[in-house]
Amino acid sequence: MTGSWICEKHTEGYAVKWKIKDILHEEQTRYQKLAVVDTLEWGKALLLDDALQISEKDEFIYHEMISHVGMCTHPCPERVLIIGGGDGGTLREVLKHQQLNAVDLVEIDERVVENSKRFFPAISCGFTDRRLNLHIADGVHFVKETSFRYDVIIVDSSDPLGPATPLFNLEFYQDVYKILKADGLLVVQSESPIFYGEVFRSVYRQINTVFPLTRVFLAPIATYVSGPWSFTMGSKKYNPRELAKKPADLGYLKYYNEGIHRAAFCLPPYIKEMILSV
Ligand code: SAM
Repeated sequence: MTGSWICEKHTEGYAVKWKIKDILHEEQTRYQKLAVVDTLEWGKALLLDDALQISEKDEFIYHEMISHVGMCTHPCPERVLIIGGGDGGTLREVLKHQQLNAVDLVEIDERVVENSKRFFPAISCGFTDRRLNLHIADGVHFVKETSFRYDVIIVDSSDPLGPATPLFNLEFYQDVYKILKADGLLVVQSESPIFYGEVFRSVYRQINTVFPLTRVFLAPIATYVSGPWSFTMGSKKYNPRELAKKPADLGYLKYYNEGIHRAAFCLPPYIKEMILSV
C-alpha cells in the first residue's frame, strides 16, 4: 500500500489502484498478510497478501455465482462443503437453500473469519447458523481425512499461491471426487481466463480428467482483475445447464436468476478454444 492508494499488480504491465479513505486493520497472520481498508468507491475491502478478496459493493456477484449455480443444479443439496471462503460470503448464500441440513466450512486461517466477523457483519452473518460446522484446517488435508460424503463441494479459494496452491492440483480434485456422493458436484473459482489463462486451462484440464461432466461459467466481478471471471464445475451426474430448482424460491438475490444461470454457461469462442485446446 502506498499513500492513500492501494495498488494490485497483476502482470508486469497491468495494475489496478483503489483510492482508500482509511486502513482499518492490518496484521500478519500465520499464513498471510491481512488488511481491511475503507475505499472511496467500493466500500470496505479485505485484502490478503495485497490481493483484493472482497469489496462490500460487488461481493454479491461472486458469492451468488459461486454458490447458487451449483446449488441449483443439484436437486437436493443436503450436505455441503466449502473450502476457503473464510469471509463467510459463500456460506451466507449456501444457507439460503432450504434443503440444506449441514455445511462444513474449512478455512485455513482463523484470522480471516475473525476479521470478517468484526468488519463485514453483512457478509459473515452465517457464522452463527446452527447448520454450520466450522473447521479451522487445511482443506487439502480435510478432504483426505473426512468420512463425510457431500452433495456439493465449493472451493472458494484465494489465488494459487501459498497455502491455496494445492487446491488447484489434480490430486486435490481426485480426493474431492471421492468424498462426493454418487450424484455430487464440485464448483471452483478458476481465475481470469484473460489474465491467468494457464491456471484457468489447467483447472479445466484436471477437473475434466476426474469428472464425467465439466462446464465453465462466467461472471463479471468488477473488483477482480478486468474482464470475465471463471468458475469451473465438475459434475458426476447432473447437467449444469439444466436447473433442478427455481432460483426465485431462494428469495431476493441481487445478481443470480434463471436467465443468468443459463447465460453464464454461454462461452465466447476465445474461451471455448482455450478449453478445447487443453
Ligand atoms: N473470493 C476470493 C477471491 O477469489 O479472491 C476468495 C475468498 S476467501 C477469502 C479465500 C480463502 O481461502 C482465504 O481466506 C484463505 O485463507 C483460504 N485458503 C487458502 N488456502 C487454503 C487451504 N489450503 N485450505 C483452506 N482454506 C484456504
